[in-house]
Amino acid sequence: MDKKRIFLASPHMSDEGYEQAYVKEAFDTNWIAPLGENVNKFEEELAEYVGINTKNAAALSAGTAAMHMALKALGVGKGDIVFCSSLTFSASANPITYQNATPVFIDAERETWNMDPKALEKAFEVYPNPKAVVLVHLYGTPAKLDEILEICNKHDVPLVEDAAESLGSTYNGKETGTFGKYGIYSFNGNKIITTSGGGMLVSDDTDMINKVRFWVTQSREKARHYEHKEIGYNYRMSNILAGIGRGQLKVLDKRIEQKTNIYNTYKNAFKDIEDIEMQPYLDNTKPNHWLSVMLLKENSKVTPLQIMEALEKENIETRPVWKPMHLQPVFDGCDFFTKDGKSSKGEMSVSEDLFNRGVCLPSDTKNTPEDMDRIIGIIKGLF
Ligand SMILES: *Cc1c(COP(=O)(O)O)cnc(C)c1O
Repeated sequence: MDKKRIFLASPHMSDEGYEQAYVKEAFDTNWIAPLGENVNKFEEELAEYVGINTKNAAALSAGTAAMHMALKALGVGKGDIVFCSSLTFSASANPITYQNATPVFIDAERETWNMDPKALEKAFEVYPNPKAVVLVHLYGTPAKLDEILEICNKHDVPLVEDAAESLGSTYNGKETGTFGKYGIYSFNGNKIITTSGGGMLVSDDTDMINKVRFWVTQSREKARHYEHKEIGYNYRMSNILAGIGRGQLKVLDKRIEQKTNIYNTYKNAFKDIEDIEMQPYLDNTKPNHWLSVMLLKENSKVTPLQIMEALEKENIETRPVWKPMHLQPVFDGCDFFTKDGKSSKGEMSVSEDLFNRGVCLPSDTKNTPEDMDRIIGIIKGLF
């Protein structure tokens, strides 16, 4: 009776057992904690994968922790403004408040669903000196990096890339996460590769990455006793989880290929349904297609809710698009900019429109062709 559960995105360990081999190695050498070979190697191997200096990646307990440390490294503090994509998961913005700074949210554009450069310009007109710009690559689709970077450089403000969802996605052949002063990745359970939980901070500043490694291990000064001159954090990744990460990294290219197949399968299946389009991306980019997301036309006869309910009835998981941060009660009172300037309350925005009309479709790499047929059949049956 129970129909097979189909997930949005769930952990997918390698068929080869790479992860277990690295974890076993840690067990065999009794190097369960704290640090050890797997942590160092995971940092080096990830840095190599994204094409940066192998000293410039720090493995942390979460992507959120990486974002927190990026902002701390930039000196973000009380009284500072930080610009941030509105259409994202709350973890992009929460660390701004951990540092007692104030987020100002920026609307999305329709070509990638990421930060609109025009809206960013408008925000600079009102707040000329933000401490940083946090840019998200939503669902693995790279943002308009050239335009955004040009604006940041013009105003001499550092860019932090939230590449939590976009590990392996490229823009002009270069990896997302490596364009800004800092980049963060996540290995949370639903991401394209996972360590069950974890994150990575990357930068071109080796000294600052070393400083972050110090902060995230409780800021212990070099002394025989425990000596502290700075506030520390317990944000380091464990040697066991880093072992899982090393194994997962070996199958990242395969996962990207599988996710791309899923996206193209949906795109193909829905090409004759006028009411459906898939999240678009720029020609000079290669998304990792972490999640395949559909958008229903404004006057579509089928609503997103009807699609989500029809799939849920068949034990198939979906999600609405992220609810924009400027609409979240917790960020009530924060400023928000669209391409037309500072937005007043209740005004419709691109990010809100995408929230209203989007549906995240099952994008699990363990889906079989039969699973895909089932999902697509149910959706097509509604039109
Ligand atoms: C998952 C995610 C994060 C947070 O990563 P964690 O590892 O879960 O802390 C941050 N930003 C975005 C856009 C995410 O999707």
